[in-house]
Amino acid sequence: MRLGRRKFGAYELCTISTLFGPKFSGQRLLWLLASSFIKHVKFICCPNHVVSISYTLSLANGEVADFADADQPLVFIHGIGQTLEAFDAQLDGLNVGDGFSFSLTAEEGYGVHDAGWIVELPRSVFGGDDVPADILQLGAMLPMQDQDGNPMDGKVIEIGDETVKMDFNHPLAGEALNFTGSILAVREATADELDHGHVHGEGGHHH
Ligand code: ZN
Repeated sequence: MRLGRRKFGAYELCTISTLFGPKFSGQRLLWLLASSFIKHVKFICCPNHVVSISYTLSLANGEVADFADADQPLVFIHGIGQTLEAFDAQLDGLNVGDGFSFSLTAEEGYGVHDAGWIVELPRSVFGGDDVPADILQLGAMLPMQDQDGNPMDGKVIEIGDETVKMDFNHPLAGEALNFTGSILAVREATADELDHGHVHGEGGHHH
């Protein structure tokens, strides 16, 4: 019995030193065990982590304004302003596999509807050789620029003989936002991702 145990012990040591080299020590084994354990620890949603979610955004009238399913999840960096601050706050601390269901007020969402963002523009703005003749349609979202060249989308809400009324509020301004969904994956963002302010790889930028 004693001999057998010693043999087994020698075999075990031999296997370990083959795997890890002659510098094997008990401490290194502990470190290896610890690092393999860390790999299996699930990350939770928190700032500077890349979070993948499936979700549905519905409005007070039940209309689905946006969604992402598990096949093509929304992938974003938590806590850096890629998504609404109140949205990040609601997901903070959730684990992979957790579901969520919460509502944001218009103020927490895309702001209240501001009449100051409704402007009347001369029809001539929409003329020109490079502008399609049928561009002016009620309800159309048109890519425009402010005087500083910043892009902003405006919605055509009234077409007059001389002027066109456009609403430059966010399309979801004034809306309470109801989100339901689940956390599909969480990982640490890389230094490059944090530097660029966007996700790289699957669900993000490829460059
Ligand atoms: Zn990048």
